[in-house]
Amino acid sequence: MNQQMLIDNEFVTGDSGRSEKVLNAATGQVVAEIQEASPAQVVAAVKAADRAFAGWSRTVPRDRAAMLLKLADAVERRGAEFARLESQNAGKPYLAVLNDELPAIVDVFRFFAGACRTMTGAVAGEYTPGYTSMIRRDPLGVVASIAPWNYPLMMAAWKIAPAVAAGNTVVIKPSVQTPMTTLALAELIAGIFPRGVVNVLAGRGSSVGTGILAQPETRMVSITGSVGSGQHILEAAKKHIMRTHLELGGKAPVVVFDDADLEQVVSGLRAFSFYNAGQDCTAACRVYAQGKIYDKLVADLSAAASSIKVGTQDEEGVEMGPCITAEHRTAVSGFVERARALKHVEITAGGRAKPGSGFFYEPTVVAGALQKDEIVQQEVFGPVVSVTRFDDLEQGVEYANDSIFGLSSSVWTRDVSKAMQVAARLQYGATWVNSHFMLVSEMPHGGVKQSGYGKDLSMYALEDYTAVRHVMVKF
Ligand code: NAD
Repeated sequence: MNQQMLIDNEFVTGDSGRSEKVLNAATGQVVAEIQEASPAQVVAAVKAADRAFAGWSRTVPRDRAAMLLKLADAVERRGAEFARLESQNAGKPYLAVLNDELPAIVDVFRFFAGACRTMTGAVAGEYTPGYTSMIRRDPLGVVASIAPWNYPLMMAAWKIAPAVAAGNTVVIKPSVQTPMTTLALAELIAGIFPRGVVNVLAGRGSSVGTGILAQPETRMVSITGSVGSGQHILEAAKKHIMRTHLELGGKAPVVVFDDADLEQVVSGLRAFSFYNAGQDCTAACRVYAQGKIYDKLVADLSAAASSIKVGTQDEEGVEMGPCITAEHRTAVSGFVERARALKHVEITAGGRAKPGSGFFYEPTVVAGALQKDEIVQQEVFGPVVSVTRFDDLEQGVEYANDSIFGLSSSVWTRDVSKAMQVAARLQYGATWVNSHFMLVSEMPHGGVKQSGYGKDLSMYALEDYTAVRHVMVKF
């Protein structure tokens, strides 16, 4: 599949003279070496997107939808190839990518194809005598899409689909660790969309990313990444007063009451804490267990975590892959070691890197963590779950909300009114009741507090990628 960048519907190799080795995270072997875009290529991509905007923004939703549907079909047809490429690069279990990620990715393109044809808004009318007012929602122009490494193709879909559905043009930069599937997607895009509507650049955030944002024609930036990167983006955005859409880190609280169905909790956490090796901004990583359920929850969750099969992409029954890089695994391990050094903490499952050439780390449970501990407060972004005891509803809500992050959360109880009460008080973009982690194209994904703002998925994303305008006609 394609390994070149896409600028103005031409496939080009980065000519900065710098390249990045792309690794297979499960083996540490090099799968490709991708040349980085030069400053001139960054300018060319943004200019191509800007030129394309005049025509693209005047296409009708029906035509944009038709192209998105074609793209969805093309990705679906080549789903196995995309899944293979993603899994080979990020080290994810192949079947998980094929069966979980690919259908969701295809659905995102289909959802936005339909959504752009059905936008709704305020009623046109005469709000002062002799004048008719109406609201328009118009595209913004060139959108810089900056993606992370944890779900590379899915993040590309989340960013490209609403932006182009709304009539914008895009310059997308995947993570330097995981560019493969976005470059492969470029091949399909070039055969479907007019030139310049979507451009794909490869390279680092500090060079190519900042370069895209520095161009005055870039009207909006949408980033999924860490809080630190979000802060850099805000700095860059102020120069041209660029619109920002920030999906940043997370540290999801999981509030488990004594009356919860423990079996359901444990099987849920087994899945939702360790999926993608916990490298997920919504991962159920910060568990709060009420006093009576605490001991059994720690015991059962530890046994469940230890039963997860960790391995390479195609191993029989593999459930969890590696961390994305050796450096990231070292960072994950650092969090666990600092927690282990605390007297009140017990590592009840995992807690070690797996030997070998891949970047594997065992599914880990850190029990007895206290609210102020680093392991409870900081984003680990790996297969590590902390468990903290709480006494009553007030304390559960207080602990859950005591975080700089505000992306997602869950509450587990058999009592509907308790669930509703807690859900209403949690300061998070999403709250699941007796579940966690479930996303659908129709519902928004996005945070509050330092998790950022702006929504992915749903009609709200389409709104984020458009400007509200007022047109007033005198008669
Ligand atoms: P990262 O912040 O290191 O990088 C994300 C992207 O931003 C990369 O493409 C990078 O090159 C680019 N970038 C970094 N600095 C930049 C700059 N100054 N200008 C322009 N581009 C820049 O994040 P990561 O390590 O790839 O991903 C992990 C992080 O992403 C975690 O913090 C995680 O919580 C977060 N994340 C959030 C969500 C969400 O929906 N909120 C989803 C997935 C991941």
